[in-house]
Amino acid sequence: MLTVTTVKELKSAVKQAREAGKSIGLVPTMGALHEGHKSLVDRCRKENNVVVVSVFVNPTQFNNKEDLRTYPRTEEADKALLEAAGCDVVFMPTVEEVYPEPDTRVFNLGPVAEVMEGPMRPGHFNGVAQVVSKLFMMVEPDRAYFGEKDFQQIAVIREMVRQLGFKLEIVPCPIVREADGLAKSSRNVRLTPENRAVAPCIYRLLSESLDFAQSHSVEETIAFVTGGINAHDAMEVEYYQIVDGITMQPITEWADTGYAVGCITVYCGDVRLIDNITYFRK
Ligand code: AMP
Repeated sequence: MLTVTTVKELKSAVKQAREAGKSIGLVPTMGALHEGHKSLVDRCRKENNVVVVSVFVNPTQFNNKEDLRTYPRTEEADKALLEAAGCDVVFMPTVEEVYPEPDTRVFNLGPVAEVMEGPMRPGHFNGVAQVVSKLFMMVEPDRAYFGEKDFQQIAVIREMVRQLGFKLEIVPCPIVREADGLAKSSRNVRLTPENRAVAPCIYRLLSESLDFAQSHSVEETIAFVTGGINAHDAMEVEYYQIVDGITMQPITEWADTGYAVGCITVYCGDVRLIDNITYFRK
């Protein structure tokens, strides 16, 4: 595995692969890697000749300074995981390398970015579009891999790709969970032991709501999930919305869509957790 820190080295490694006629897959990450990230790398390994993984805590997508400051950084462990997973090139740049000058681009990402995480995390998706578009320009991958844990992010990236005309395939990958159902996340390590013990109620309520939804309205289903989670001390639902899985727009009737996904964010103590579940996809 080749570890590179500069754009020049990255481009040179990619150029060599390209000239040898190899296909290139990219997995963008912010490090503190776990099994969820590894599943993206595994899928990328299967579908491409060369696997490039970026590990970069992107400051422009953090709307909360404290979150950026305390974001876990585990560079050596990340390299070991990536080496074992068969990654070919890992790109671990500094902030100055990615942003030699401030990125002033303002994306208009349209309706997919105007709901849920959009208003809750002002500037977040713009920062995601900035860094991911830069990575796409540096690597020009054939395919890029993203986790469905960040469900709305995939729709936003698809829109950015459409607007900028990138020729690549976006590959969504299923959520990887802990044995007790909690979606794996780099932020889980910040949970206190007490909060870690109750956090699995998020996925439990989401799962139970699949059955509940069979005989209840969208509104009742939202109340069922929100009420069930808020009943736990230390848990507070920020939002639970059931949306069309393509447009991200909230639905009010089940018949409004052929693809219904429930997207949730929950404060568990001061850690913000995110998850989602698909009700149906026709
Ligand atoms: P992050 O490092 O949190 O920015 O995540 C990098 C990529 O890994 C994103 O595409 C995430 O959606 C994906 N990812 C993070 N956690 C999981 C998980 N538990 N299951 C599947 N994908 C994940």
